[in-house]
Amino acid sequence: MSQPLWLWIIAIPMAFVTSLLVKRALQAKTPADNDVVLYLLITMASMFGGAVIYFLSPSVVSIVEAVAFNAVLMTGGAIFILHRWTEGSLDEEIGKITVAPSQGAASDVVADATTHDAGTLRVGTRAAVISLILLNEFLMGWAFVLASGSFTTASGSSAQAALSTFSRVVGSDWFIFTMVLEMIFSVYMLRKNLPKSFFLIVIGQSIVMFFAPTALNSANWVTYSIYLGSVAMIGLLIYMYEYLFKNKIVTSAIRGYFLALLALYAMMMAGIFVWIIQGSALVFVLSIVGEMILYFNLILSKGSIESSKSRSWLTDPWWVFGFMTMTFVAEYFMGALIDMQYYGTGFITGISLAPISGSIVTQIGAVFYDFIIYFGSVTGSAWFLIMMGVEMGALVVFKIMITRELETKIRLVLVIAAYFIYSIFLPSFVFSSSIASIPFLGWSMGVGTAGAVAPVFLGAILGTYLITGVLSFLFGARQTCSVFCTAALMYQGTFPDSMSAFNRTSKLGRKLLTSRMSNLYKIVSSIAIVSIIIAAIASYLNSVGIISFTFFGTDIVFFLYIFYFNFLWYIIFISIPFVGTYGCVTTGYCHIGLFNQFVSRIGLFRLKVKDPTQCVNCETKDCAKACPVGLTDLPGNFIKSGQFRSHKCIGVGDCVSACPYENEYFYDVRGWLREKLGIKGSNKHGQPHLPVIGSPVQAEQFAGREANAKT
Ligand code: SF4
Ligand code: SF4
Repeated sequence: MSQPLWLWIIAIPMAFVTSLLVKRALQAKTPADNDVVLYLLITMASMFGGAVIYFLSPSVVSIVEAVAFNAVLMTGGAIFILHRWTEGSLDEEIGKITVAPSQGAASDVVADATTHDAGTLRVGTRAAVISLILLNEFLMGWAFVLASGSFTTASGSSAQAALSTFSRVVGSDWFIFTMVLEMIFSVYMLRKNLPKSFFLIVIGQSIVMFFAPTALNSANWVTYSIYLGSVAMIGLLIYMYEYLFKNKIVTSAIRGYFLALLALYAMMMAGIFVWIIQGSALVFVLSIVGEMILYFNLILSKGSIESSKSRSWLTDPWWVFGFMTMTFVAEYFMGALIDMQYYGTGFITGISLAPISGSIVTQIGAVFYDFIIYFGSVTGSAWFLIMMGVEMGALVVFKIMITRELETKIRLVLVIAAYFIYSIFLPSFVFSSSIASIPFLGWSMGVGTAGAVAPVFLGAILGTYLITGVLSFLFGARQTCSVFCTAALMYQGTFPDSMSAFNRTSKLGRKLLTSRMSNLYKIVSSIAIVSIIIAAIASYLNSVGIISFTFFGTDIVFFLYIFYFNFLWYIIFISIPFVGTYGCVTTGYCHIGLFNQFVSRIGLFRLKVKDPTQCVNCETKDCAKACPVGLTDLPGNFIKSGQFRSHKCIGVGDCVSACPYENEYFYDVRGWLREKLGIKGSNKHGQPHLPVIGSPVQAEQFAGREANAKT
């Protein structure tokens, strides 16, 4: 039998036994039961510790040392526990189980000889159990790495050697795969202790952990584990987003768990990135250890998961900000890792950076330049966008499933199609070399998108503004902001959409409400427009040789594009809790958006209501509440003129879907043509409705009276 095989024959039962001990700890009926669990864990640790002593230097002497080590630890543990029993202090110190208020969930947790629905081990006992599990795994992993002959002693100082050994062992298949097995065994054994959603989250976590690239010494494993691990993590993130969308009220323990898990995933992805670039797995393995602590703490404290204080996560902007930031960091490094697998490590190591030298101003400029270029190289890459697209696109699919309006459903399908075809597939995989010569496609975000404002590209650039301008005139700015722009996909899924509440609750968000151009809006939009115009002129003059000006070798308008859309855009996105959703529209910082929005304002697009009287009698004003841009002046305009036109309206359509009376509808070139040609539309597309008054129930009654009157 090969060596690894017999080692696995030991490792798998050990994982099972450890899981049984975890279950046993949680089901302890008496304090003595807890001691038995701790003692067995100590015994296992001493056994593997002895094996490590032997394998570090196999000889008769080391066998004797190992046996002695075992005997001392096991006997010492037994004496200590016997002493505690005879002292009678056990109840107070380690064996006692505190009982959390029952939430009514079925549970097999038993405490202090009494059956309870939910229990949680006392912190000290929990910490002891978790520490011993980790120690066991570490010693077993170390012993097995040594036994399988794949361990080489690190050079350097003893501290460096210790860290290297720690990284090597925790990053090994013996530690990681065994931990995965323990997670699966224990979560299955204790499944009744966890809400179903958490059971699935833990299964997702174990799959993510299984695809640890450090686990196997194989280039193929590294590549496929990064791809498959990313897929698993994206799936888990989607599940968590949807969980939060469906459960606005969550306990503080769940919020804490989600935040800690995302922070560990951010660390994990950054750790793999560092490991691939520099060879050090320390950050990665620390994230693995952190994840195990988080997991076992969850399993051993089920009571607090369900019984801790509950509140809406939408009332905790700092938590949401932390969650969004950690998610973004994890995704950033995930995108970089996939890019490196697809294009080669040179994708990152080959990024041309400015040297940090010269005057202090030059050095500050170089640091800024390097940071933005490094950041933007990943966020602007095809694989980062694909990864984000899959994640946020899934949330858009969920949104389609709950959207009422056919027009909005169709638009959301177009959003997904535009994201993948228009923003990724065509520019990155089909036209990548000639993209700058193609209007609309090459310059999707206006000047700067595809490079310098050089004479050779003027036709493509002007063509872009012409095409997008005509489309905005006919259909409104929604053709850009709610279909073609990647922002549409990012903002319109279920989870981001639910955060539109921050437009009304955050201090800054409230300042940006309504169609009004606040001072802040005027300042931000002016800076955006002026900066892009100056940069475009400088870029042109530089291209024709009149001036010689670049920013550390990069065309100034191209750099500005990277800064605005590959960096600042994401900062605004993760700042939703403080800015609200669609910060790009509400602050006016996006120049191409501004262009389309102002063309739209003078174009044919607007929102109309079939009956303004209905808006007068409407008590809920759901349209205003639903708007993700925060256009709370919708009802007032409907009442006043029966329509709503605003440069900030990007036609998302949530207001149309939200109107309980189906009173509101879109109007654009199609409605205009119908009017001009005298074609009567359906009720949903322009045909004035019979006036209905009050609630939907009254509306039905009214419709009934109408029907009776006709018969
Ligand atoms: S304002 Fe700009 S970034 Fe925002 S949705 Fe519109 S085009 Fe996209
Ligand atoms: S929710 Fe409907 S009826 Fe009420 S104000 Fe808005 S458009 Fe009018």
